Amino acid sequence: MLRMPEFRYLQPKSLRQALKMKEDAGPEGMYVAGGTDLYPNMKRRHQEPKVLISLSGIRALSRITGGAGGAALSIGAGVTLTSLHHHRRVSLHYPALARAAELVSTPLLRNMGTFGGNLCLDTRCNYYNQTYEWRKAIDFCMKKDGAICWVAPSSPRCWAVNSSDTAPVTVALGAQFVLAGADDERTVPASNFFRDDGIRYLSKHPNEILTEVRLPAQNGWDATYWKVRRRGAFDFPVLGVAVWVKWEGNLVADARVVLGAVASSPLLVSEAAQAVVGSDLDDEAIAAAARSAFKTAKPMDNTDLTLAWRKEMVRTYVRRALEELRDRRHHG
Ligand SMILES: Cc1cc2nc3c(=O)[nH]c(=O)nc-3n(C[C@H](O)[C@H](O)[C@H](O)COP(=O)(O)OP(=O)(O)OC[C@H]3O[C@@H](n4cnc5c(N)ncnc54)[C@H](O)[C@@H]3O)c2cc1C
Repeated sequence: MLRMPEFRYLQPKSLRQALKMKEDAGPEGMYVAGGTDLYPNMKRRHQEPKVLISLSGIRALSRITGGAGGAALSIGAGVTLTSLHHHRRVSLHYPALARAAELVSTPLLRNMGTFGGNLCLDTRCNYYNQTYEWRKAIDFCMKKDGAICWVAPSSPRCWAVNSSDTAPVTVALGAQFVLAGADDERTVPASNFFRDDGIRYLSKHPNEILTEVRLPAQNGWDATYWKVRRRGAFDFPVLGVAVWVKWEGNLVADARVVLGAVASSPLLVSEAAQAVVGSDLDDEAIAAAARSAFKTAKPMDNTDLTLAWRKEMVRTYVRRALEELRDRRHHG
């Protein structure tokens, strides 16, 4: 049986208290929200905080505000994935996000797991998401306790993968993330929140708390999310495709194509988006976008399912996502 290491558990009631507790705890402290990623990780000694600062008692983090009639919507980082998926304004105006939340793991984990925890999710790798003894047997890896990357042994960097379902959707939607620090609050675009580095995968300072995610108003855009995984009921994505298009009449005025689970951060494929701008999403434009995404995606051999098949699926799923948006535009 895998056991949790010992830790102190603190329950602040306000952001200010939480930030102070984290500052006092220093590098030995970590925030925990639903704990659905952090607790299993602690059992495997991926993270070994001595102090856990729970965010679950901070009411301000669980609010969803705005969004009436398609106006901009603000979602607290502590909102559970179940609430996110069921929220009327989210499912009505941001169905891509509601779908991504619904596709995370199982109902039990979605009841505990939060939007913020999903966005701050640790990167994953076949050589890392293993027990301590398993990792010790291969002399660990550079992400934790070791020196080498077993996926690419000559690589100076870690290639662990961003496997969050909601992360690529927030980048595609052009969301803004609000971060609270001890002295100030700042807002960063979703695309700048994630870093393409398996170890330092967030641009956030460890003491900062992600407090809310701001989504843009509905003004003629549409978006969708498609996910590939081994078991439909349960698994992390081995590929996520989030696509956003801005319509002007029947033509695409702007677009974003973002791939999840193929790199250490959500991967924005600008060439794929450019391939559909100015088109009405005809077959030729969609095929060009899918080809471009396929060429750009360079998944590594460090998640479930085979590398070549996952790469091939990029083409298929980008095509399916764009076809869905076209069909919705033309046939309602
Ligand atoms: C069996 C299993 C299957 C899973 N399947 C999926 C899946 O298909 N897709 C998927 O995306 N995820 C999956 N997960 C991972 C996880 O359940 C979800 O990502 C969940 O949303 C994490 O949220 P949480 O609140 O539990 O995060 P926690 O575990 O509490 O925290 C995760 C990390 O985020 C940090 N953190 C949390 N909230 C904040 C905040 N507001 N500000 C700053 N830092 C914060 C924590 O310090 C920690 O580092 C799975 C997990 C398990 C165990």
